[in-house]
Amino acid sequence: MKFHSFRGGVHPPHAKNTENCATIPLGVPSKVVIPMVQHIGAPCRPLVKKGDTVKVGQVIGDTDAYVSAPVHSSVSGTVTAVEDRIITGSRPVTCVEIVPDGLQEVSGDVAPPVVETREDFLKAVRASGLTGLGGAGFPAHVKLNPPKEANVDTLIINAAECEPYITSDCRECIENTDYIIKGIRHVLKWTGIPRAFIGIEDNKPEAIKILEDAVKPYSDITVCVVKTIYPQGAEKMLIRTLTGREVAPGKLPADAGCIVMNVGSVSFLGRYMENGMPLIKKRITVDGESVKTPTNVEVLIGTPIQEVFDFCGGFSEEPAKLIMGGPMMGVALYSLDIPVLKHTNALLAFSKEQVKLTEETSCIRCGRCVEVCPMGLLPFELDRLIRAKSYEDAQKNNLMDCMECGSCVFACPAKRLIVQSIRLGKDALRRASAK
Ligand code: SF4
Ligand code: SF4
Repeated sequence: MKFHSFRGGVHPPHAKNTENCATIPLGVPSKVVIPMVQHIGAPCRPLVKKGDTVKVGQVIGDTDAYVSAPVHSSVSGTVTAVEDRIITGSRPVTCVEIVPDGLQEVSGDVAPPVVETREDFLKAVRASGLTGLGGAGFPAHVKLNPPKEANVDTLIINAAECEPYITSDCRECIENTDYIIKGIRHVLKWTGIPRAFIGIEDNKPEAIKILEDAVKPYSDITVCVVKTIYPQGAEKMLIRTLTGREVAPGKLPADAGCIVMNVGSVSFLGRYMENGMPLIKKRITVDGESVKTPTNVEVLIGTPIQEVFDFCGGFSEEPAKLIMGGPMMGVALYSLDIPVLKHTNALLAFSKEQVKLTEETSCIRCGRCVEVCPMGLLPFELDRLIRAKSYEDAQKNNLMDCMECGSCVFACPAKRLIVQSIRLGKDALRRASAK
């Protein structure tokens, strides 16, 4: 199969320290905190109140909005709070706090879905609470239901995992290969898409071998081993690499005839179609020089990250920076009381020594950020305009096309905090348009 290339990109150290660490279940934490919005789209309305008892897999939040996904309890126990809290952004979100009873009694509503039509399938996907597990959190039932005129002919399974440190998708490929194949078969069958490509970077030889063996009986599934270059796993880049098609600014993968799903998402679907257990747990990579025992952990959604780090032996030294996600695109955390969310794929704790490397100095106009930007933007100029609060000028310079991949920051000798600036600029524009 012929692959294409995309412009720009960088080569950060892989640091896939945990690629051989089999996933260990963390078990039931002391409490879970489950936000009513863990996805792109409308927030859910809590369906429980303080004092209620809940069971595993019970729906505790939902909405009539189409672009949304229900949230489920990951434990059995008692609701101890329903209140607004700050999680990862600056705005409070409504959260349900549950103290587990340790019994993990499963809700009577949990049963394998009965699927006889495409509509049944989409309904089941929505009921599962699945949102993109690769980081963006887009509701899966919306993604799998593109407009008819889109003419989607390719399902792309994203197993590229191009961010340094993260190995949770790699472990998914090794540990849950059968469910990945089952999930792909369900999606192809019920959406009518004729072929699937599994995109995986060439730095994962064990996972590649296992996947290649697993797809042998299926002529409509191809494992595509692609070059390791960041951000190969970004939707638009992977589509370009595997099909040669471009997703125009402001357009969706479906406009280029593709649907892209994270490998963990299809694996979850493969299992969900068998047992009906909604999305209540997540595999995450825990790493960074401050973590005593880096590994991959299976965590119930809502588990405080403090308990995840404790499970990994705690910190060898006080971390100077905590990140949810990868070092390139992740979100900095300011508290250990933040819960694991549906789309959390990694928790990283970096030492003072590592963080020192990222202290910024003045821009020297070297242009390296421009060379590596896969979206063809002028990152240094966006940074300058946003710092000067010229948000509309930044918009005219295609600010909204930035996918926040961090390649510019990685390449910048002055370590300018360009992505931070870009996020501020986007937020300012969104707030202005909401007025
Ligand atoms: S400007 Fe945006 S898209 Fe371009 S390299 Fe920087 S973060 Fe990535
Ligand atoms: S790479 Fe950094 S120093 Fe060079 S032009 Fe871009 S922002 Fe300025």
